Amino acid sequence: MNRQKSFENEKPTLYLVATPIGNLSEMSPRAIEILQTVNVIACEDTRTSGQMLKHFGIKSRLIAYQNFNEDPSAKGILNLLSQGQNVALISDAGYPLINDPGQRVVSEAAAEGYNVVPVSGSSAFLNALVASGLVVQPFLFIGFLPSSDNERAKKLREYRNYPMTLVFYEAPHRIQKCLETCLEVLGDRRCCIARELTKVHEEFIRGTLKEVLAECDGLKGEIVLIIDGNKDDYRKDVDYGTLMNMVNSQVMQGLSKSDAVKKVAGETGISRKKLYDLVHSKEN
Ligand code: SAM
Repeated sequence: MNRQKSFENEKPTLYLVATPIGNLSEMSPRAIEILQTVNVIACEDTRTSGQMLKHFGIKSRLIAYQNFNEDPSAKGILNLLSQGQNVALISDAGYPLINDPGQRVVSEAAAEGYNVVPVSGSSAFLNALVASGLVVQPFLFIGFLPSSDNERAKKLREYRNYPMTLVFYEAPHRIQKCLETCLEVLGDRRCCIARELTKVHEEFIRGTLKEVLAECDGLKGEIVLIIDGNKDDYRKDVDYGTLMNMVNSQVMQGLSKSDAVKKVAGETGISRKKLYDLVHSKEN
């Protein structure tokens, strides 16, 4: 057990500071202030972050925190915290930990009772999701799929029956192959490519997987791919746990069981009666 009142103690703090994903005007005054006042900033690449920090006149000491070497990097940061220093963790862009390094040091710093404090900022997948035109809640953020065709298809089969909207990151040179596999495994669902978010060439391509595939030859830049969840009837053996969790979470938020079933049926496209029967059969 560990209860953190972030601003009511004198303990050293690990700040998780989100940085712009393109447009530098999205850097918040709070992020600048914290990066200016911490003892050390840990980043992925000191050259990339050095340029961004210089733009904002931030001169705090910069050290590298590496994904492929998380163990010694995390130890180094915990050591600084144990000396009473405040540390900010940043990534090249967006939030640290979101498909970027930081998981280990955050888990360990939290377990050791240091303050772990998020500092809000840009997020590629949230920007993409809210502007996609697809149903936003519930959603599942997956990040990058495997690059090998077989592994990608295998991974996608795991998500095929999920009713929630699926969110992926993908590299431009793989987007065509990725869409082809999505079409093959998931069928021709609605989707949206969000490209170069917050930058001058920002673009959204909305349509079915087939339609978007026809447009994606030679796409460049950074890409988020959003795909509709499975709107067909559920397969009891696969999705039962997810559906029950969705109903239970609505009940915990104060809905009656029948209103929760109604809401989840609306969100997932599953027939209300089937969902009632499913919930009821579990209770008896
Ligand atoms: N930490 C980042 C975040 O919070 O979004 C993600 C880092 S991940 C290594 C990089 C991937 O994020 C890119 O390949 C792309 O899929 C996505 N991404 C980052 N910036 C983006 C942007 N401006 N527009 C679209 N996608 C972006």
